[in-house]
Amino acid sequence: MKQHFDIAVFEGDGIGPEIMKPTLETLAHLSDAGAYRLDFNVVPAGAAHHAQTGESLPAASMTTARASDAILLSAMGLPTVRYDDGTEISPQIDLRKALTLFAGVRPVRVLPGQLTPLNMPDDKEVDFVLIRESTEGLFHTQGRGEVTKDEARETLLITRDISEKLFRFAFGMADDRKAQGRGKGRVTCVDKANVFRAFAFFREIFDAEAAKHPDLIADHAYVDATALWFVLKPWEFDVLVTENMFGDILSDLGAGLMGGLGVAPSADIGLDHAVFQPCHGSAPDIAGRGIANPMAMILSGAMMLDWLGLRHDAPALVADGIRLREAVETVIARGGALTADLGGSASTQDAADAVMAHLEIA
Ligand code: ATP
Repeated sequence: MKQHFDIAVFEGDGIGPEIMKPTLETLAHLSDAGAYRLDFNVVPAGAAHHAQTGESLPAASMTTARASDAILLSAMGLPTVRYDDGTEISPQIDLRKALTLFAGVRPVRVLPGQLTPLNMPDDKEVDFVLIRESTEGLFHTQGRGEVTKDEARETLLITRDISEKLFRFAFGMADDRKAQGRGKGRVTCVDKANVFRAFAFFREIFDAEAAKHPDLIADHAYVDATALWFVLKPWEFDVLVTENMFGDILSDLGAGLMGGLGVAPSADIGLDHAVFQPCHGSAPDIAGRGIANPMAMILSGAMMLDWLGLRHDAPALVADGIRLREAVETVIARGGALTADLGGSASTQDAADAVMAHLEIA
């Protein structure tokens, strides 16, 4: 009997449903042909849902998400729909907190032929993973910052518990990548330990985890220097791990290196749950026109297959995750079915069809 997995699906706002549709078609195609079955349960949440019902993340949706093997989430939020305090509706952040998804995984890959602002030497390839702590840091007081007429305050929180889990995860990922022949086995702690005591604490916990992995290289970098190196020599990195706000900013820089947000996937992973979603927002400026780039969402689906496969000892899912990622990379490198954000004129469906066609012949 086929191994089966329940996937909770949040279609999102703006371009969210437009890029989720072909992603589910692609995943269904792989699962129909494979040794496993994916059952998708579409559940409501988001800004449009809030506008209709007053609820952004219904309890029933949360229950389904909790009971699922993995969660696929498209872009959420709309600038026109806000809570009373003026902040945007962001169930993806609520999910991160409720499910303790402390590791925000942001892969950055730039292959030959890919659109990039980088001046890449011919013999170089960019393939690193930025891990952004996603439950505390400077987002700790999100929505609760103190604002008076003359002052505004937010609090940065770094805990030993989450930091230990985060660093264990980062070294585990460097190990996995090294075993797959993809990484150098290097983990870089990105902080600002020269200025803030909280980051010296963060670094100390990193060093304690590093001492348990003598086979891996562990080093440190200040966040400002890391931004510079992302642009000058990003091929030197393997796994980087950092605080929430630093990671938020660096992950968009990473997306820029890849040619834009339309090709930047992500995962938010905890000990028991994981959410897979594109790095980008709901792009209301292009919503409803069928021109959004579906690649970031499809690549997030590939990350989900990989994670499920490793977690459940199911090599068929890991293999399909790699196949799907390679299909997207091939379509991007060939350049025939690129959406407007990558300089082409393909529709969302054309781009997704090209991935599907490649999977069928690969
Ligand atoms: P958020 O704050 O939710 O991250 P944002 O308003 O900062 O959202 P996005 O919604 O990600 O940003 O959009 C930023 C720009 O990138 C917009 O011009 C949008 O059209 C473009 N963009 C984002 N995602 C895509 C995509 N998948 N395909 C094409 N263009 C995209």
